Amino acid sequence: MSSQRILDSPGMAAFGAHRVRLDVDLTRYHGHLKPGIEGTSVPGVKTTAWGYQDRFWAVRYDCCGRVMDTLTSSLTVLEEAQPHGAE
Ligand SMILES: [Zn+2]
Repeated sequence: MSSQRILDSPGMAAFGAHRVRLDVDLTRYHGHLKPGIEGTSVPGVKTTAWGYQDRFWAVRYDCCGRVMDTLTSSLTVLEEAQPHGAE
């Protein structure tokens, strides 16, 4: 049973927050962002000009809450979208 998916559909960004895992090293942008760190996508947030491109998601990382626009191809989704207020 696989709960992991590789993102290949930019349109998914419109639907709720996803738990994601970073698969690349982004320490040149933020020192905590090593491969394997997890975070939560932040739908609708764009922190830089890059974020206006669909292939970037804003992700709030668990390290210290830093939000970084991240290439969807660099992320693995750990959970399906959780609509706000669900459960
Ligand atoms: Zn951090």
